[in-house]
Amino acid sequence: MLEKRQFYINGTWVDPIDGRDHSVINPTTEEPCAVISLGGTADTNAAVAAAKAAWPAWSSRPASERIALVEKLLTAYQDRAEDMAQAISMEMGAPIDMSRQQQVGAGSFHIDGFLRAAKTFKFERPLGDHAPNDMILWEPIGVCALITPWNWPMNQIVLKVAAAAIAGCTMVLKPSEESPISGMIFAEIMDAAGFPAGVFNLINGDGMGVGTDLSGHPDVDMVSFTGSTRAGIAISKNAAETLKRVHLELGGKGANLIFADADEKAVSRGVLRVMNNSGQSCNAPTRMLVERSIYDQAVEIAAATANKVTVGPANEPGRHIGPVVNETQFNKIQDLIQQGIDEGARLIAGGVGRPEGLNRGFYVKPTIFADAHNDMVISRQEIFGPVMCMIPFDTEEEAIAIANDTPYGLTNYVQTQDGERANRVARQLRSGMVEMNGHGRAAGSPFGGMKQSGNGREGGTWGIEDFLEVKSTAGWHIG
Ligand code: NAD
Repeated sequence: MLEKRQFYINGTWVDPIDGRDHSVINPTTEEPCAVISLGGTADTNAAVAAAKAAWPAWSSRPASERIALVEKLLTAYQDRAEDMAQAISMEMGAPIDMSRQQQVGAGSFHIDGFLRAAKTFKFERPLGDHAPNDMILWEPIGVCALITPWNWPMNQIVLKVAAAAIAGCTMVLKPSEESPISGMIFAEIMDAAGFPAGVFNLINGDGMGVGTDLSGHPDVDMVSFTGSTRAGIAISKNAAETLKRVHLELGGKGANLIFADADEKAVSRGVLRVMNNSGQSCNAPTRMLVERSIYDQAVEIAAATANKVTVGPANEPGRHIGPVVNETQFNKIQDLIQQGIDEGARLIAGGVGRPEGLNRGFYVKPTIFADAHNDMVISRQEIFGPVMCMIPFDTEEEAIAIANDTPYGLTNYVQTQDGERANRVARQLRSGMVEMNGHGRAAGSPFGGMKQSGNGREGGTWGIEDFLEVKSTAGWHIG
């Protein structure tokens, strides 16, 4: 078993000051695979102090030098790709091939997107021809606390760290206590890339401890958080006392609007998108809304697609899905599946209990409910497992109304071969992102939500701007 009790503070690995042991459980075996330390207030203070001390020098370095270090980060990240894939697979259950391609791949994809945006980013821009002596300066906000979840660990960490570094911020990362090993490898990568001491610090901890200490800390200027809406609310409340900036990337309950003229793969593509990462994606299209004239056929395709999804151990190669992250999630998903049955939705694939032949490991059956209503619990709550519900609709207006009838607003999906309709529907959906006809969003596009899905935008130019303050100067000397 791995023993990883140290924290990365001020450019070196240090023992915790008031830490306590925490076992990381491998969801494939249900056995501990590592022991880490959950830090206390003294550890948080040490990490924040290091970031604060590093800020004046780092923030005043030319942006070109910060960008050059992020380029080195990309190389160092690629050098450790296999270690990273193994760690993610072990700690959160992503099957190893998927971990290599998607989980680790997401990190390089985002660093690439930031580098492209950074090269043309202007940190100083004139207001306009009408005001030649007004210069607008984009300046780093200061010390940032970065709090991340376990479901796409590198995706989330890179989206925050690379952007903050380019912006000129210093930072304290607290990865999820469910997936801390990948975060610690990432700290080794930052070290190998040569970031100056104190620019990047990592401490492990839980939400109630280090998470709360960070969000309330007077020397932290911004919290960038990805995780549940529940924790996002707690962080916002705690951060209010110091009026720091709070950037939130929260949960989702995406709708996938499938019109009668959708391409023939639309339904199976939607199901597979939900099942990917065992349903543990905030942007999963978990409500499939289908035009009534093709509904029965869609139900058949959805059931057949889900029945073909295989489930198995994370350490085995192949295209199966792995276990869900932990026992709490497993039990929550089982309860919600049962609730769907009790509410009267029609179970057409999967159901409660583990898949056949898998008695150990947090495995969930790929599950589909047909004939769901949008007011059922399974249509409203983020299940965060391989579970999808299907709801028929009659008109475009009704489909849009159902899609928008949710507290969330992260990603919605539209399937139609009528381009005019696709654009018209995309404009009316209340979500930060809309993906149409199977097109994925490009590197550098903004990721983020509306309503209870959060308020920030990560990735590319928008991601860098989130870590900057805008300063307006008048009387600027033009040399
Ligand atoms: P979580 O909210 O339980 O934990 C996320 C992180 O926040 C962890 O590091 C945890 O230790 C910390 N935390 C928990 N409570 C806290 C508190 N009160 N103060 C400070 N920190 C606290 O979420 P999770 O279970 O790790 O992740 C799953 C959730 O993340 C889902 O709801 C999912 O939709 C969401 N998510 C959102 C996005 C997005 O970009 N919108 C991306 C991935 C995941």
